[in-house]
Amino acid sequence: MSGIVIVGAGQAGATLAETLRSKGFDGPVTLVGAEADLPYERPPLSKAYLLGDMARERLYLRPEAIYSEKDIVLKLGQPVSHLDTAAKTVKVGGEVLSYDQLALTTGSVPNRLPAAIGGDLEHVFTVRSLADIDRMRPFFARNARVLVVGGGYIGLEAAAVAAKLGLQVVLVEMAERILGRVAAPETADVIRAAHQAHGVDIREGVGLERLLGEDGVVTGARLTDGSELAVDFVIVGTGIRPDTRLAEEAGIGCDNGIAVDEMGRTSASDVWAAGDCASFPYKGGRLRLESVQNAIDQAQAVAANMLGAGVPYLPYPWFWSDQYDLKLQIAGLNTGYDRIVVRKTDDAVSHWYFRGDTFLAVDAVNAPRDYMVGKRLLEMGRSVAPEVVADPDANLKALLKP
Ligand code: FAD
Repeated sequence: MSGIVIVGAGQAGATLAETLRSKGFDGPVTLVGAEADLPYERPPLSKAYLLGDMARERLYLRPEAIYSEKDIVLKLGQPVSHLDTAAKTVKVGGEVLSYDQLALTTGSVPNRLPAAIGGDLEHVFTVRSLADIDRMRPFFARNARVLVVGGGYIGLEAAAVAAKLGLQVVLVEMAERILGRVAAPETADVIRAAHQAHGVDIREGVGLERLLGEDGVVTGARLTDGSELAVDFVIVGTGIRPDTRLAEEAGIGCDNGIAVDEMGRTSASDVWAAGDCASFPYKGGRLRLESVQNAIDQAQAVAANMLGAGVPYLPYPWFWSDQYDLKLQIAGLNTGYDRIVVRKTDDAVSHWYFRGDTFLAVDAVNAPRDYMVGKRLLEMGRSVAPEVVADPDANLKALLKP
């Protein structure tokens, strides 16, 4: 028996391996990871770990001993370089591994700036892996000048850490506002105000024209508004793309990620996918989510289906971001909203998205109760009247009663 091979030892891969065991699979399980570290969680990379508030070992999802206890063979530090779906083998270094079933949990790769505009200069960093953070961390010295390119969550979180540590931070966002792809203008306003209060120079509607360098090292940047600034280093937070390389080379169907059916099966027999790299059927289209919760839930569903459960994966998206003393929690997907209702109580504010009278999603800033109620309503398939949400005296918890 060849057993199950999992390619990609991140959040989804490690969860999938453990779920196979917890569901009673007793055949061989091999988890192959390109990175040398034990499987780890990424959210602290742009938060507590970057700030220096979290030890490296605390990032690990499980201590090494757990994998041997559960008889999960870890092969870390080298990528799977080739997948042959006809022979049912993968190549890792000089070794060829056979599989009965294969799971692709290869995650995402960060977008880089093109070399033509200076993206290949030294001291230009992406924020994806522990190795990325270890490389950039020594540059976080008081008064160092950093340019952050991109006003999404990753760029904003890195900017918040830099500002907290006393760096001089300029953040440019080419679109007309920060968080344009993921949050309402009202939520962006709260986040922008916090950054400005901490001295971050946020420039919206301004892109990077090119980086400037000397002897191969970045020294400055020219922006699309014609201005130039001197910098010591650059953080690129311009999004990610699903890592579909192996799947594409093997002829597996991809469509904004490795395309899977509702069970998590790819177009190749006995090959499955989960996590950031997978796009799945959703409301007549395809959806791909980039979050810890999706990586965990989908990996658990796929593990069960690999063992024959036959249960479709249904996402209940939620996400969080920490910046300064703001804890932003998001439940649901706001795609297609036509109305935002604001709920404000003391220091807490939440923005509720509706399409017509249908509640779609909530962004809660320091409002854990609003977030919890919104998340539960979505899970229960219930809506809520916009005027109830808008009333700060309304007891939202009552909405959860049977
Ligand atoms: P990954 O965790 O990326 O794991 C994929 C692994 O596969 C990688 O280690 C990769 O090296 C490996 N791999 C790829 N190709 C191969 C190959 N050929 N052979 C072997 N191995 C391979 N989400 C939230 O919900 N909340 C947050 O606050 C949050 N903050 C984040 C902050 C940062 C800085 C980052 C980078 C991400 C954050 N995310 C957050 C997103 C979240 O971490 C990801 O959605 C999650 O890690 C996805 O898990 P995954 O297993 O699909 O992919």
